[in-house]
Amino acid sequence: MTYRAVFLDRDGTINEEVGYVNHIERFNLLPRVGQAIRLLNQHGWKTVVITNQSGVARGYFPESLIHQVHQKMQDLLEGEGAYLDGIYYCPHHPDIGVPPYRQTCRCRKPATGLIEEAVKELDLDCSQSYMVGDRGVDIEFARQVGAKAILVLTGYGKGEWEYYKWKVRPDYVVEDLFEAVLWIVQQEEFISVGEK
Ligand SMILES: [Mg+2]
Ligand SMILES: [Zn+2]
Repeated sequence: MTYRAVFLDRDGTINEEVGYVNHIERFNLLPRVGQAIRLLNQHGWKTVVITNQSGVARGYFPESLIHQVHQKMQDLLEGEGAYLDGIYYCPHHPDIGVPPYRQTCRCRKPATGLIEEAVKELDLDCSQSYMVGDRGVDIEFARQVGAKAILVLTGYGKGEWEYYKWKVRPDYVVEDLFEAVLWIVQQEEFISVGEK
């Protein structure tokens, strides 16, 4: 049995884009995110965060802050009746900082290391999955693993949509994560009705 997943970028998709979340108080959920993730939970989608956090390699904050921030994220979501099935992050940067954080790793999006880990641990099928994010790199990442790609216009989304040099286009562009989830859920209902 394999599961389908919705992979979520973090900054600008789940929480307000503030540059680097270098303090726990700078992590705040965007509107309707709790509702959106709850809907995914209710419809049986594995919900998995995949995030680049090069602020660690850059020396802006310690790796331990990422764990604190992720605890806060889970607590805030729990308060809205929602949960995440997995959270995967990359703390590296290819040419800033000092090793081991400075390295050409396999986990910094659009490289696919983090998703491969998630697929193994959670038994996921990427071809039946979606990736939602606010950057061009999230869309390229989705394509590399064979998932459908949705761009949200929160965070960097509006600017990316207008100015990014798109090599591959998103399958769908929406206002925010909630709208992305509505679309995903509707697509699935359409498909299952078609099969019956
Ligand atoms: Mg982002
Ligand atoms: Zn990495």
